Amino acid sequence: MKGLIGQSGLDARCATQLRVLQCIRMAAEISRTDIARALDSSPATVTAACTALLRAGLICEVERAPSDTVQRGRPRIMLQIANGAFYVAGMKIARHAILVMIVDSQGGEIVTHTAPLETSRMKAEDLVRAVRHALEAACAGCGLGIGQIAGVVLGMPGFVNGLTGFMHWSSSVLERNVDFAPLFREHLPCPTFIDNDANLVAKAEHLFGAGRGLRNFLVVTVEHGVGMGIVLDGELYRGERGCGAEFGHTKVQIQGAVCQCGQRGCLEAYVGDYAMVRDAATGRQGDGPTSIPEILEAARQGDALAQEVLQRASQFLGVALANLVNLFDPEHIVLARSRPPFDHPYPETMLDALRRNTVEVDAPLPEITVRNLDESMWAKGAAVHGIELVSILKIREQGAADAA
Ligand SMILES: [Zn+2]
Repeated sequence: MKGLIGQSGLDARCATQLRVLQCIRMAAEISRTDIARALDSSPATVTAACTALLRAGLICEVERAPSDTVQRGRPRIMLQIANGAFYVAGMKIARHAILVMIVDSQGGEIVTHTAPLETSRMKAEDLVRAVRHALEAACAGCGLGIGQIAGVVLGMPGFVNGLTGFMHWSSSVLERNVDFAPLFREHLPCPTFIDNDANLVAKAEHLFGAGRGLRNFLVVTVEHGVGMGIVLDGELYRGERGCGAEFGHTKVQIQGAVCQCGQRGCLEAYVGDYAMVRDAATGRQGDGPTSIPEILEAARQGDALAQEVLQRASQFLGVALANLVNLFDPEHIVLARSRPPFDHPYPETMLDALRRNTVEVDAPLPEITVRNLDESMWAKGAAVHGIELVSILKIREQGAADAA
C-alpha cells in the first residue's frame, strides 16, 4: 500500500495525467492549448493525457463560442472536471463528534453531518465502526447509497502516516501502533485513508483559504493539542515516516510538564486546551475552571492563576512560532482554532513574543493570520484530499486497463 497516495507511485504517463487533471481543477475550465502553456508541456503530451482522462470519466468537454474573429465559426473545446464522476466523504475525528462532508468530484458540497461520539478516546476498531455509522447517516441525509461513495479520508490528530494508513499514536485512539488498512477493508465499502488533521486543514487553506496561490506557508492548529501542516514549494511536506510537522511535541522545557504523548516539556503540554485546563485547576479543590471559556472568564475576573496560565501559554506559543519563522521563513502562517475562538488577549501577548524572538533581518515578518476556523474546514480538507486520491486510483485503473 506504500506509495498509494504519493505521486511517486504513479508512472510518468499517469503522473502527467494527474498534473493535467489538477490544472483543469484549478482553472475550472481550460483549453488543451492553455494547459500545455500552463504546464510548459507539449500539446501532444497534453492531448494524450486528456484523452486518457476523458476515457476514465474524470473530465468532460464543453463547447464555447469562439472568443475572437480569427476563429470565427469554430467553437472552442474546453475541458472541465466531470460532474458526478464520483462522490467522496471527508471526515474529521474531533473530541466530541465525527464531522462528515460529502462532496462530488468537482468539490461541490453535497451534505455535512455531525455524528456525536460518546467518548473522546476509543479502541481503533470501535472508531472505525463509528466512522461507518457516521458515513451511513451522512449518506441517508442526502439520498446517496453508501456504495456510491468512491473514497473516504479521515483526518485525525496524532502521529499518522498518511502514505501507509499506519497510526503510531493518536489522542483519539486507545492503542498505539495500529495498521488501519485491514480495519478499513473489513468495515468500509470503499478505499479509505487516514491523515493528520492539521495536514488536511493545510490542504483546505491552500486551496480555499489564506494559503491560496502561496508556495511556502504553515498552518498551526491550537485545540485539545497543537498541530501543524507544512506546505513547501506548493506541496504538503510529511517527512520521511509520514509523521513530520509534530509542532505540538517540539520541546520547550527540559523535564517540563507531562504531555499526553507520554513525554515531557512538549509545547502542547503548556498550550493545548487539556494542559491549560489542568494547570488552571492546580491546587484548587475541584472548583477551578474546567474549560477554556471558563479560564478566560476567570482571568477577566482577576483570577491570578488563570491569568498566569494564559500568559505562559501565549508566551510559549509566541516563542515556538518564532522558531518556526527562523526555521522555515514562510510567506504566511495561519494560526487556527475552531472553538472557543481566539477572542481574548492571548494573540497579542503571543505576537509580541513572536516578534521579539524572530531573527532580525531587514525585511518584514511573514504575514500571520489568526483565524477562528469554521469546523467544516477540517472535513472539507479531508474531502478535497479524497478527490485527489480517488482521481489517482481511477487514473491507475485506466492505465492498467489500457496496458492490458
Ligand atoms: Zn508530546
